Parts: sequence; C-alpha cells; structure tokens
Amino acid sequence: MAEPEQPPNRVQQEGSPCASGASPAKPGRPIIVQKYGGSSVADVDRIGQVAERVVAAKRAGNDVVVVVSAMGKTTDGLLALARQAASAGAAADPPRRELDMLLSTGERVSMALLSIAIQARGFEAISFTGSQSGILTNDRHFDARIIEVRPFRIEDELARGRIVIVAGYQGMSYRREITTLGRGGSDTTAVALAAALGAERCEIYSDVDGVYSADPRVVPDARHLPELDCAVLQEMAECGAKVVCAQAVEWARRSGVALTARSTFDAGPGARETVVRRFAPGSASSTLSARAIVAEGNVVLARAHGGLRLDELLRAAGELGLGFRDLSFGHGGGAFVLPLLNVPDWQGARRRLAALLPSIELVEGLSAVSVVGDGLTATAEPLARFVEVLGRAGIASRLTVAGPLRLGALVDAADAAPAQRLLHASFVEA
Ligand code: ADP
Ligand code: ASP
Ligand code: MG
Repeated sequence: MAEPEQPPNRVQQEGSPCASGASPAKPGRPIIVQKYGGSSVADVDRIGQVAERVVAAKRAGNDVVVVVSAMGKTTDGLLALARQAASAGAAADPPRRELDMLLSTGERVSMALLSIAIQARGFEAISFTGSQSGILTNDRHFDARIIEVRPFRIEDELARGRIVIVAGYQGMSYRREITTLGRGGSDTTAVALAAALGAERCEIYSDVDGVYSADPRVVPDARHLPELDCAVLQEMAECGAKVVCAQAVEWARRSGVALTARSTFDAGPGARETVVRRFAPGSASSTLSARAIVAEGNVVLARAHGGLRLDELLRAAGELGLGFRDLSFGHGGGAFVLPLLNVPDWQGARRRLAALLPSIELVEGLSAVSVVGDGLTATAEPLARFVEVLGRAGIASRLTVAGPLRLGALVDAADAAPAQRLLHASFVEA
C-alpha cells in the first residue's frame, strides 16, 4: 500500500474545485496530461499501443503525465465479486469502505502494466497511486470529491525526465482512507491533475472520437460535435452522457483547463476530436438550440404525498447520503429523482428511506431521457415538441422537467432507446 501523504494543511471548501483556478503553467517543458479509459487498456496489446502514443508525446518535447482506468470491465467485475461476498449477510450491501479498497486495485494493475510497457520501449517511467499523487478527497466512500491536489512527487519525477503514470479514480481522504471518485472518475483525476500541474492541456482518450449529439451506440445518426462549451457538456454528463464524467467537466470549467476528447485507436493526422471550451465561440450569441440527447439508466422516482415536510425529506436524504435532482415540492406533496450509479448500497438505503419516511413512494427501473441545449425554456415550443414527440410514440413520462439547459422525462427503461432516437430526429436532425 502506498505511503500515505500528510493530510492537507489547507483544506478548501469540501466539494469545490480550486477556487483560484489552474496553477500558472510552470516554466520549462509544457506538461500534457493524457487519460486512457478502460477500453483503451483492455489487454496487454492495447496497453502497448497506448505506450507508443505516450512516448510519441514525450518525444515531441512534452512532460507527460498519464492517467489510466482499470482494464476493460474490471471495475464491474470487482463490484460483482463484492456483491457475491456480501450476499450471505442480512444487509446484502458491501460496505463502502471495503468497496473502495477493492475497486481502487483495478487502476493499480493498469498503471503498473503501462509503466512496464513504457520502460520496455526505452523510456523512464514511474507509476503512482492516487494517494501517492497527492489527490486528497472528502471521506464519502465510493463517491468522493477531490478537495485538493498536492502533486509534489509527480513534479519531482517530471523534473527527473520521467513519464508519470497515475492510477485514476482514486484518492485519499483526510482520515488517510483510500477513496474512489464515483464511476467514470478517472476523468476527474486527469482534469484535477492538469489543473494542479498547470498543464497545457488534458486529453481524454476513449473508444469514441469525441462527444456526439447522442450516444452513437444508441442513435446511429448521432452527429460529431467538434466544439462544445463546458456548461452544455456538464449538463450532458450530469444526465448520463458518460463520455466525460461530470465532475471532470466541473473542474475544467472552474480551472480553465483546456480539454479535448479523442479516440485512442483512431488518432492519426486529421482524426476528429471534440474541444471543450469554457465558453465555446458563438455560444453566447447562438440562438436557442438543442445540442444533444442523453439518457441515464437506473434512476428512481421518489414521490411524496401531502403531509411530508421538505425539511424531513432533506434530513432523511442527508442521513442516508443520497444525492438527488429535479426536486419540486409544494402543498400537495413533491417528487425528486435518485440516480443510483454511485449508490452501491441501495438495498439498505431503500429500507432505511422507507422506515424514515413511510409515506414516500419509490418507482424503480426507470431511465431519464433528456434534451440538452441552450434557452430551452425561453418559449413553450421546445417543451411542447418534447411532450408531443414522446406522446405520439406512446411513451409515458412519469415526471417531466424543464429548465433552460435541459428538458427531461422519466420513462420505463425499455422506452429509453426509442425515446432517444425520436428526440434526436426531432431536435437535432430536423
Ligand atoms: P472510457 O472507458 O474510455 O472512460 P466510457 O465508456 O466511459 O469510456 O465513455 C465512452 C462511451 O460513452 C462511448 O463508448 C459511448 O457509447 C458513450 N457515450 C454516451 N454518450 C455519448 C456522447 N454523447 N458522445 C460520445 N459518446 C457517448
Ligand atoms: N474504473 C472506473 C469505472 O469503471 C473509473 C473509470 O473508468 O474512470 O468507473
Ligand atoms: Mg469513462
């Protein structure tokens, strides 16, 4: 296990990326942070291809820091093992602390293999865990937020001319416990490190050549978006577009790190990419428009009927550590949405929620489908069209929400794919 770093002596407000923004770029060679996702490091051959790309960036005169995800579907496999081990008990949910100990090992395997592959090519490299890299988080296991980055060991190794490989998705809390950053969290590691190191840019490599107007696996006519502003991408990521994780975009927006999304294995000259900017040119002046359709599976609709007070509800959510969105509350009751991606202990949480708030009704097995864009509530037309498209296809929405950046509907999981295709045809293709 890594030698733990000292706890931070200056802790920023929990959950908020460096308020002061990116560190000023250090004099000397430009620093590039590259992040490779699970499909990019799925086997030793692919790790070899990644090593070639990394040494090419080094040869081009950069200092290179590489953040890696676990190989392929390793994290899902480890999670399944934990569930199996927990299934004998009454609680049936594995404890979050032990999940973090387990899941953080996935990234340690790929970091070491990539370092070995780079050294085999004649370059000096060294791998570090999240805690060795100085990634300090709050103590919310499984879904921790980075509160500070102290990348001193990385800076020392770069100064020695080495390529530094960092295990993504993990850090250490101020209690010196290993934490993980929520699913897809290696992106966050990369952007937070880029900010702390004053890197010239952060390149996110995956199996797609950038961000599309919908998940290309679901919507074959999805369009490539060469440029996007942080606010729209953050809204897309918050609502299920997993191409870049939401917390990473939040760091990029606040710190000003230049972010690009590219494909690992289709990255020659002329290859497409998406450049994510704080303010994409034209975004302020552009007319009201839908940019993308996104969907998130595994969400729960919670409905509270009259009699439940909002403060009681918030106290229960706080006690259970549940994040929620789209809350609306009034005299007759209220509703909100619980995304379960980062709730590994939902079985226990559901029981405790029902005990704390007996009048609450939970509807499971739903997906949230959203149109993301600008000015979507400036007139009634976009929402009217949204309702009409779903209604015409006989797709029932259990909760419809509308805001300037997003129109959303909660639909049965089986309706999510057709809903995305129909909304894309109407809002993006038309
Ligand atoms: P990695 O493992 O490299 O982090 P992810 O699987 O997390 O990669 O993210 C890439 C996947 O995101 C793609 O394979 C694609 O199916 C999915 N995706 C969802 N929405 C979008 C979108 N709007 N644009 C591009 N890809 C998307
Ligand atoms: N391996 C982690 C996950 O599968 C983190 C990541 O891939 O970014 O969620
Ligand atoms: Mg990802």
